[in-house]
Amino acid sequence: MSEQWIYLDGEFVRKQDAKISVYDHGFLYGDGVFEGIRVYDGNVFRLQEHLDRLYNSAKSIMLEIPHTKDEVKGLIINTLQKNELSNAYIRLVISRGVGNLGLDPASCARPSVIIIAEELAIFPKELYDSGLEIVTVATRRNRPDVLSPKVKSLNYLNNILVKIEASLAGVSEALMLNDQGYVAEGSADNVFIVRGKELLTPPGYIGALEGITRNAIIEMAKELEYTVKEEPFTRHDVYVADEVFLTGTAAEVIAVVKVDGRVIGNGKPGKETNCLLEAFRKRVVKEGVKVYTQV
Ligand code: PMP
Repeated sequence: MSEQWIYLDGEFVRKQDAKISVYDHGFLYGDGVFEGIRVYDGNVFRLQEHLDRLYNSAKSIMLEIPHTKDEVKGLIINTLQKNELSNAYIRLVISRGVGNLGLDPASCARPSVIIIAEELAIFPKELYDSGLEIVTVATRRNRPDVLSPKVKSLNYLNNILVKIEASLAGVSEALMLNDQGYVAEGSADNVFIVRGKELLTPPGYIGALEGITRNAIIEMAKELEYTVKEEPFTRHDVYVADEVFLTGTAAEVIAVVKVDGRVIGNGKPGKETNCLLEAFRKRVVKEGVKVYTQV
């Protein structure tokens, strides 16, 4: 890959020079918001939804993004062009900016705006063929009345603890439950279970990020005449489901074939999961906003 350029507060800098202050409250306190966005063949998938979620997260934590949504769109396009990328994962970060050592964001003069575009190293193809083995972990999803999981903030410690527990259990992903024991989501993905032609995913109030891939799958599944229910479910429901899959911008749709040692279905990615993955991959190119054509 040729040189990688990062957008950092008004200019493009080389990857090795893309540095922020140790006084940035994003670094000191995880004070900021972010998005992960996919680009397929120059089409940005659901850019408007990502921007809406970013601005809602920012509003919730009283962080004023120093650009309009259209300006951020323009910056994303410029970053893709500068890096000559038409297939990419974009990381858009708005941190509170540089302040003093106190918690009060009032000391931060201006938010920092960072855009990274990279060729995405998605899960290895073998994992889509074989499916994932996962576990449920002791770490609970943070309660919506403490720090809403709908805010996609730079504070990902809850999710990182899940990842650590997963690694300790020898697997690469895990499910967390909410404080009442209902299944909430993975460390960076939403979860669905399949029963016949019925899909279930936890509703927003259970405590999960409102995933853009999740919402796309719900829409597509309804078009394909699945029954989709946003309904709470427990670990038991996961164990006895016909199929289980995870959704996310990076992961797309990936089958889960074992949960806490229980084999799901016949232990292989199921028919409905494969059908939805195929439909999703067709949809992402067709539906995206064309912003970049490689010359
Ligand atoms: N949950 C969490 C905690 C996440 O970080 C992500 C990834 N953004 C998701 C779910 C999936 O959301 P999306 O489909 O918007 O990527």
